[in-house]
Amino acid sequence: MNILVINAGSSSLKFQLYDMTDESVLAKGKVERIGMESAILSYEPAGKPEVREVREILEHTTAIRKVLDILVHKEFGVLKSASEIQAVGHRVVHGGESFSSSVLIGDEVKREIRRLFDLAPLHNPAHMLGIQAVEANMPDIPQAVVFDTAFHQTMPPFAYLYPIPMVLYKKHKIRRYGFHGTSHAYVSERAAAFLGKPLKELKLVTCHIGNGASCAAVMEGRSVDTSMGLTPLEGLMMGTRSGDIDPAIVPFAMSKEDLTLAEVNSMLNKHSGLLAISGLSSDMREITEAREAGDRNAALAFDMYEYRLRKFIGSYAAAMNGIDAIVFTAGVGENSAALRAAVCRNLSFLGVKLDDAANEARSSEERAITTPDSPVASLVIPTNEELVIARDTHQLILNRDHVV
Ligand code: AMP
Repeated sequence: MNILVINAGSSSLKFQLYDMTDESVLAKGKVERIGMESAILSYEPAGKPEVREVREILEHTTAIRKVLDILVHKEFGVLKSASEIQAVGHRVVHGGESFSSSVLIGDEVKREIRRLFDLAPLHNPAHMLGIQAVEANMPDIPQAVVFDTAFHQTMPPFAYLYPIPMVLYKKHKIRRYGFHGTSHAYVSERAAAFLGKPLKELKLVTCHIGNGASCAAVMEGRSVDTSMGLTPLEGLMMGTRSGDIDPAIVPFAMSKEDLTLAEVNSMLNKHSGLLAISGLSSDMREITEAREAGDRNAALAFDMYEYRLRKFIGSYAAAMNGIDAIVFTAGVGENSAALRAAVCRNLSFLGVKLDDAANEARSSEERAITTPDSPVASLVIPTNEELVIARDTHQLILNRDHVV
């Protein structure tokens, strides 16, 4: 079965085509700057040269049509016809309380995703555009949605509620949801396989640290806490997001600086984090280089980022009354040996014994970066959210066909 995985943003659309007989990627790519005359289609077919086209793509329906066109292109294509795609799986950021697992799309699911626009105004409407664009181009194809929030629906109420008036939860569903769930679920399973232990017997802290960053306490395979909340702003310090701050800063800064709500929102989401403290960049690579070259602000940004992450890991060890392994994933987690080293060295009290050579080894493989006798293991596990979406979609189609 061939499955097309789509991650639609407001002006971009990433895709990967999987052959589920061996889970191989037949082609992947993205369309950027949708809505502009100079939109960019980048395309990487397996075993063939990459393609990059600049052309007018004004909306998502055209973007999907261009993707299908190139997938069946005489020279660059990997399929003879679009009918060789049997299903489409979409990433959807917010599933609210309605979805604790992936589902096939029907009218009720679409209504529910729309109802959740309020909770994820930047993401869910864009995902809906992607879903509709597929419907317009491939009217009969089954589509599934995989939610970033679903994995965290196992959090107990004492972890997901905010200590604010209950009416806000009851009326408006203001609570903690968590994000990056697909990634946290994937790396937890891979960590158990790597350690050769059943997931049911493990207490893990998974750290998905990329442009956005969150960590999760995963006990017996279930998320029991995670650092992001109602929105992906809560928790860890990130590239441009503040993470946790005193909420009183919002009205205080608004009155002192004469800021509007939109401005303060933009400040916390787009002009904070590593970027604000370093005054240089939101990219951990640049921060690390500048820090090594003696830049004091970059060093401060790095230290704050590490300190805040380390405190979360410590608090999750307390939340689970123990910890077997820490898992690093996503751009920073997979690539920044300096960040991992700083975190692990400062967690020796928990029983983390860093293996410096293993940590610094350049590899894209799953690996341990602690010594074999370390009571708590630290692992680097490359994430693969697209594969989870393809697998869930595949499973939903198989189950549906089985029921029919
Ligand atoms: P992601 O959102 O998972 O794609 O992660 C993107 C982030 O990973 C970038 O903004 C970088 O800060 C970070 N990153 C990628 N490569 C490296 C590296 N070699 N060292 C440090 N950070 C890196």
